[in-house]
Parts: sequence; C-alpha cells; structure tokens
Amino acid sequence: MKLHRFFIPPQFISGRYARIPDPDLAKQIGRVLRLSPGDMLILLDGDGFEYTARLEKVSAREVHVEIMKRQWNDKEPELKIALYQSLIKKDKIEWVFEKCTEVGVTNFHPVLSERSEKLRFNVLRAEKVVKEAAEQSERGIKPEILEIEEFGRALRRGAASEAMILILHPEGSSLERVTFPKKLLAVNIFVGPEGGFSDAEIDLARELIKNGAPISIVSLGPRILRAETAGLVASAILLNRN
Ligand code: SAH
Repeated sequence: MKLHRFFIPPQFISGRYARIPDPDLAKQIGRVLRLSPGDMLILLDGDGFEYTARLEKVSAREVHVEIMKRQWNDKEPELKIALYQSLIKKDKIEWVFEKCTEVGVTNFHPVLSERSEKLRFNVLRAEKVVKEAAEQSERGIKPEILEIEEFGRALRRGAASEAMILILHPEGSSLERVTFPKKLLAVNIFVGPEGGFSDAEIDLARELIKNGAPISIVSLGPRILRAETAGLVASAILLNRN
C-alpha cells in the first residue's frame, strides 16, 4: 500500500524519535486518515529528503514517530521552472498552482499584468493546495508561492538573472524555433491573464530583447488556450524534452 506523505518543518526531524507539534498534521493523521500507532508514513523535510517513519502516538496537537529510514527524493526535475502567472480568477489560479505542482514546476510568481482583472488571491489557501498536490504527486520539495509582482518589474528582474525567459503569447514565434542552451537548467515562463498581455507589455519585452536579455516571445500553436492552461502545457513540454 502507498504510504501517506506529509511535509513538515525540517527542525522537527532529528535523531531517531521525533515529536511534531503540529495540530493540523495531528488532525490529519489521527482524525481524517485514522492512522494508529504502528502505521507507517513518510515525512518530507521540503529540502528533498524523505523519512520513512512509524507512528508512535498521535494526540490532538502532536504526532510522535520513530524514524526508520532517510532517503533522497529522486523525482525532482533537473530543470527548474518558475511560472510567472498573471493574476486570473481565484479558483483558476489555484488550479494552475495545483496542476503545475503535479507536473513539476519549482515555484510560482503571481504577476500583476495590465489586463489582470483580479488583483489578489487567498495565499494561505493556495499554499495548502500546493502542499497537498506536492504530497500527492510525490515531490521532494514544496513549490513556493512568491509575492505578487508587477509585470514590468518581474520581467526586468528575470532578465537580470541567468534563467531563460519565455513569454507565452499567441502571436509569438513557435516554441520549436527557440534555441535552448545544451543544458537547460532554469526557465522562467510568463503567462498572460484572460485578456492576454497588452501591447505595452510585449513592447517592453521586445525592448529588453534588443538590449540582449535572454527573452523569447513564443507561441504554443495556432489554438488559443485559456490563461490557466498555457503555463501547464508549456511546463509539461519543457519538462519532457530530452
Ligand atoms: N486574446 C488573448 C488571448 C489570451 S489567452 C491574446 O491574443 O493575447 C491568455 C494567455 O494564455 C496569453 O496571454 C498567453 O500567455 C497564453 N496563451 C494562450 N494561448 C496561447 C498560445 N497559443 N501560444 C502562446 N501562449 C498562449
């Protein structure tokens, strides 16, 4: 049987026995899943290590386990994708975070674009969705959701880093024509809101490209995808290139 997996703060794991003072975890383990002493589970430190553990005791507020084995999670992709998702409707952005976590995106940068209609989302809820998706899909890390940033700022900051930047835009050139470095280690993917990127935003990207920034404006094909679909599709394509 597949063991249940739980991200926990790494400081709670040290030595053979661990006491985890986390009421949410205790509730999940004791009341929701009804695990009992002797049951096995996997704890994740969020840095890529997994601990196979035996449940010793669970109360309303704490979980006690015996750590049996520590192993490295080898399911994290080598390619680190940062998804710069323009703000879209709340349940849609949660869906993006959830599905992209399953696929293997490393972290999420919510972006305020000119045509974003929604200006915020429930961060705590989104983090919970990401955590559960990361546990379910057997990730070694829990993708982080960063602060909301305005498009121009995010793009300029990205352009100053090493990572390659892909701006998804239906009128861009084909993704297949982009020349990737031989060893592609980091990509920042920008996805527009429901109404797409504005002309000013695309002009800014062109300006940065002229000045040598590693940005490509790319299309995923002739069909227009929903704002919540595009990042997922691009991530899946990139993570499955050889
Ligand atoms: N009418 C808008 C469509 C926006 S779709 C426009 O023409 O821009 C919402 C977002 O999804 C876009 O901003 C883009 O980032 C992404 N997207 C959707 N379909 C795409 C495609 N075929 N190629 C590249 N990006 C796409």
